[in-house]
Amino acid sequence: MAKKQEPKIPVTVLGAGVTGLTTACILQNRGYQVTVVSRAFPGNPDVDPIYTSPAAGAHWRSYAANDDYRGQEWDELTFQTLLRLCSVPGTGLMIAPGYEFWAEKPDVWQDPFFARFIPKYQRLEAEALPQGCKFGISYETVCINVPKYLPWLLDQFLYLGGKTEERDVSHIDELFQGKHAANVVVNCTGFGARTLPGVADGHVYPTRGQIVQVFAPHVRHTVTRLGTMHEDFTYIIPRDDGIVVLGGTYQADNHSLEADPKTADDIIERCLAICPELKPEGKSLEIVAHKVGLRPTRVGGTRCEAEWRELDNGRKVLLVHSYGHGGYGYQSSYGSAATVTKIVDSELAQQRASARAASNGAAAGRGRGGNAKL
Ligand SMILES: Cc1cc2nc3c(=O)[nH]c(=O)nc-3n(C[C@H](O)[C@H](O)[C@H](O)COP(=O)(O)OP(=O)(O)OC[C@H]3O[C@@H](n4cnc5c(N)ncnc54)[C@H](O)[C@@H]3O)c2cc1C
Repeated sequence: MAKKQEPKIPVTVLGAGVTGLTTACILQNRGYQVTVVSRAFPGNPDVDPIYTSPAAGAHWRSYAANDDYRGQEWDELTFQTLLRLCSVPGTGLMIAPGYEFWAEKPDVWQDPFFARFIPKYQRLEAEALPQGCKFGISYETVCINVPKYLPWLLDQFLYLGGKTEERDVSHIDELFQGKHAANVVVNCTGFGARTLPGVADGHVYPTRGQIVQVFAPHVRHTVTRLGTMHEDFTYIIPRDDGIVVLGGTYQADNHSLEADPKTADDIIERCLAICPELKPEGKSLEIVAHKVGLRPTRVGGTRCEAEWRELDNGRKVLLVHSYGHGGYGYQSSYGSAATVTKIVDSELAQQRASARAASNGAAAGRGRGGNAKL
């Protein structure tokens, strides 16, 4: 006789950015029945001006510090996953040579932690550096065409049985109540976590990123200048459809969603200085779009932890937070989703163990009670 299948445990993921969609896919692969609730999805990004994922570059370049072991683990797992996905058609992911330049040679240079696993890592010789730069490294990395990758993630999720619900959530506890009440919710609201009632995390703040998109299909490598994120760090990220993203800005606590024309000119000038081939002689830059996004940055780093909440009716429910991924939401996405999945597994296992212990205790109590009656 066929073994009776256990019913799947329902989980609601709030948010359809790269964090929410990746987490939903991984939870689903783990056997949960997942619903993604969000006011904005990849197909209607403009309904939510603080939906960051569609406004990103993006590429994998880890900034995890040498003592940030969680960040390193997340970024390495994500790199290996994205690299594998590059061979899957339709993802919008592509492998590209990456170059990084510094204006001055650092006094003490320590190779970044990713030198141990990223392909083709090397320090550059002086003749490989552009004018005005004194130090550089190169490696092979993954570039992400975000308007293609986000719908691809959503399609994977739907294909494997995931459900979606488009709506604005006005309090986190709303998801534990009503017709589609869940017992487990994962909060992937990005910058929305700053204001969402029931969460309202004052440690979340925006780091404004402005970019210029140009059509330059001959540029197939990514370039970064400065090595660390900085007010005006400069980067060039090619996409698989010929669009090249020119960046950027990294402006903490700046909420402006308008593209500033002067900043755009400055970005173009900085990018041309490190990648003159963007504009072949006799040609002009073909500007396609200007974009601004607010990176959901958080004092203390990403919040990835469980919170057991007690509702007004006394019911205990599990809320797992995963927000505040700042400028690294894509490159840490699979690592952060794996941590969320482990948290959900272990919290539910502990809950089951406590319920069993309580019911065994009650049974033993009944047993003693029975003996007393004799
Ligand atoms: C210019 C720029 C360049 C970048 N480059 C890179 C890069 O190269 N590599 C990299 O890794 N990262 C990069 N980033 C950072 C990256 O984009 C973010 O870390 C990431 O997008 C955050 O994703 P998220 O899913 O956590 O948040 P979001 O994408 O903002 O998603 C939040 C979701 O929650 C929903 N939501 C929020 N509140 C509610 C509510 N109350 N009710 C219903 N729905 C709600 C929103 O609608 C949205 O769907 C870049 C960012 C910018 C702006």
